[in-house]
Amino acid sequence: MRRSFASFMAVITCIAATSAVIESSPAAADSTKCAGNADALGVARTVEIDTSGGPGFGFEHYKAHDFLGQKEVILTFDDGPLPGHTRTVLAALAQHCTRATFFPVGKLAVGYPEVLREVIKAGHTVGAHTFSHIDLGKAAPDKAKDEIERGFSAVKRASGAGTAPFFRYPYLRDSADSLKHLGGRNIAIFSTDVDSFDFKVQAPENIVKTVLSKLEKRGKGIVLMHDIQPSTAKALPMLLKELKAKGYKIVHMKAKDEIKTLAEFDALIEKDIKGLPAAGSEKTTSSVVKTVPNN
Ligand SMILES: [Zn+2]
Repeated sequence: MRRSFASFMAVITCIAATSAVIESSPAAADSTKCAGNADALGVARTVEIDTSGGPGFGFEHYKAHDFLGQKEVILTFDDGPLPGHTRTVLAALAQHCTRATFFPVGKLAVGYPEVLREVIKAGHTVGAHTFSHIDLGKAAPDKAKDEIERGFSAVKRASGAGTAPFFRYPYLRDSADSLKHLGGRNIAIFSTDVDSFDFKVQAPENIVKTVLSKLEKRGKGIVLMHDIQPSTAKALPMLLKELKAKGYKIVHMKAKDEIKTLAEFDALIEKDIKGLPAAGSEKTTSSVVKTVPNN
């Protein structure tokens, strides 16, 4: 009895000590957690988003919810996954023990599910960005619905789990019908506060300059980048270092509930996914293929 009480007290003391460290010095807690990088950005705050009714975020288009404090930044990456560049982006984020939100394209998710699973495994949030990146501002309502739903079904099937009901319009172009559809499906919409224009600005140092000068003006914001751009992948270590040096804090977004995909669109994806096992049910290759003695 005494022994269990002692171990109980040890646990309580440990919890108290941990929360004291986090409360008094979040930066110190982050860097101790991030091996090998004393100047890691870490994650200053995690927010959970209730997507009921399809709220919009990002002041470039949707101004209802201003949830970031001064110097708070959200990193977002569109258009992936692509093996080379997405992995470079993941490595840069891991170097800082920080988290981002990815908006992959359904077609690419189905093409590179292993990369998408690496994104999920690293603890990032994954939403969707249509199936084939068409301009929904110009699409007929049925086509727009198909692109949105097939996009989510593809990302969910490829990632295996944990897809957030978070959506970003290609080219940031919405339409009344698709907004109504997203609202009815309880999918949140993300525009941006700080557009990096990384698809136009090709020199990595210019991407860093663009993001930092826009952030300085706004003081905070959701930053839009692309994990398929080689210059973005190159710019990211520099950008993360500068964000830390200038006192910005990373906020990580999570969804209150996962996306509930529609069965008819899930069925369409099965044709493209070619027998990919569900995440977690994969057999290791060494358990499937073994070297045996020659005969
Ligand atoms: Zn895009």
